[in-house]
Amino acid sequence: MSDANAITCDVAVLGAGPGGYSAAFRAADLGLKTVLIERAPTLGGVCLNVGCIPSKTLLHAASLITEAQAFRAHGIDFGSPRIDLDQLRAHKDGVVGKLTHGLARMAKARKVEVVQGTGTFRDAHSFDIALTKGGTAAVRFEKAIVAAGSEAVSLPFLPKDDPRIVDSTGALALPQVPQRMLVIGGGIIGLEMATVYAALGSRIDIVEMLDGLMAGADRDLVRVWQKHNASRFNRIMLKTKVAGANAKRDAIHIRFEGEGAPEITEAYDLVLVSVGRVPNGRLIGAERAGIAVDARGFVTVDRQMRTNVRTIFAIGDIAGAPMLAHKAVHEGHVAAEAAAGKPSHFDARQIPSVAYTDPEIAWAGRSEDDLKADGATFGKAVFPWAASGRAIAMARDEGFTKLLFDADTHRIIGGGIVGVHAGDLISEIALAIEMGADAVDVGKTIHPHPTLSESIGMAAEVFEGVCTDLPPAKR
Ligand code: FAD
Repeated sequence: MSDANAITCDVAVLGAGPGGYSAAFRAADLGLKTVLIERAPTLGGVCLNVGCIPSKTLLHAASLITEAQAFRAHGIDFGSPRIDLDQLRAHKDGVVGKLTHGLARMAKARKVEVVQGTGTFRDAHSFDIALTKGGTAAVRFEKAIVAAGSEAVSLPFLPKDDPRIVDSTGALALPQVPQRMLVIGGGIIGLEMATVYAALGSRIDIVEMLDGLMAGADRDLVRVWQKHNASRFNRIMLKTKVAGANAKRDAIHIRFEGEGAPEITEAYDLVLVSVGRVPNGRLIGAERAGIAVDARGFVTVDRQMRTNVRTIFAIGDIAGAPMLAHKAVHEGHVAAEAAAGKPSHFDARQIPSVAYTDPEIAWAGRSEDDLKADGATFGKAVFPWAASGRAIAMARDEGFTKLLFDADTHRIIGGGIVGVHAGDLISEIALAIEMGADAVDVGKTIHPHPTLSESIGMAAEVFEGVCTDLPPAKR
């Protein structure tokens, strides 16, 4: 297509995930003529379409099932659940649809022009677009924000094109409730999907190459999860890997190697591969715009999210770890503001992480294991949920809340929570870290009773030695 017919704009955003749509909407709100290029039929990216939202919809269903079952021991028996997979799938799709339609409406309301197609750089001021409806287009821009995300890593030695071997997108499609399921990879995504399928009735094995699950989370948090889940999963194989796979008519037969490997080949009806995600930096023609991409495929950026080409920014999964939606959104805002000439920087003190498993695990700021590895001096306080009236009332007192403090200033520098709703509770710790709050600030903040959030105030009191909800500290 000749440049005379090109769509022109101040800012072109490549990719409409949480990073891309947030950047485009902020740019438009700042008065910039904005074009948003997306290859998928709907806005929202991985997170909304095949990630955060559908997985949490299914995890909510899973928690209803397990909570109802657990309450048999407390006098309420709903009987065995009858699961209509078509209806559950339709509910999940409905949730996603509601949100994607909302995004499309918001793009329209802001006059963000959405171009549906796959974009690649032609040069440092234009994209070539292979339009989804057929044909091509060009977008000429003053500035660009690259938000093209990441994709699931596949394992080359697994049989190709077998519907019984899926990635997270395939698992979220709920093709069936398999009798026997293998989850390869004990990270957050794998364990969330394992939680869903276990509740639906599958017998689950989990295999992980490392010596622990959920890398990045403190081990004391993970231990609580593991104890609570001891009977939920058939087998958790650590320091073990898949050595070979054979697709037979009856099942996928897997051979394992390592410390936890069973002696015989195991057969599975569904295998979920969740061994990580790779950035899409090598798939966008970055070299034609002169943009530096590192060996792993991440686009390198500075604190204003600028690439080495000053007028081109990169955000979200493609711009570095952690690959999380809320990081992408904040980076998107920074990039749009910087593109509009504002002095914005990405200077977050913390980016919270949450495993929406059962129980949930959430952490923010420095982790205890990292601080120890660095040889840092720090303070620590723990409030066990066994002393939380609310947790006991919910029959979920297995968790705890942990705060980590700067040894000199007593400011909160990190924290972790394991227990139900940990993902919602962690925001208070995130805010405390961002605001430079210390133990007295949090301990003296009146938290409502009886709530799980009280455990954060009480952990701060524990640190100050003034908690009256635990036995007296030994002198
Ligand atoms: P993406 O969401 O990946 O969006 C990139 C978009 O760019 C896509 O829509 C893609 O189609 C488009 N695109 C790519 N290349 C091109 C091109 N050349 N032309 C046009 N369009 C292109 N994160 C959380 O914070 N919380 C969670 O609970 C959570 N759960 C998850 C569960 C699962 C199963 C998965 C897979 C991920 C989960 N994540 C979660 C991670 C989260 O989804 C990502 O961190 C987030 O989506 C990254 O946003 P992004 O804007 O960088 O990119």
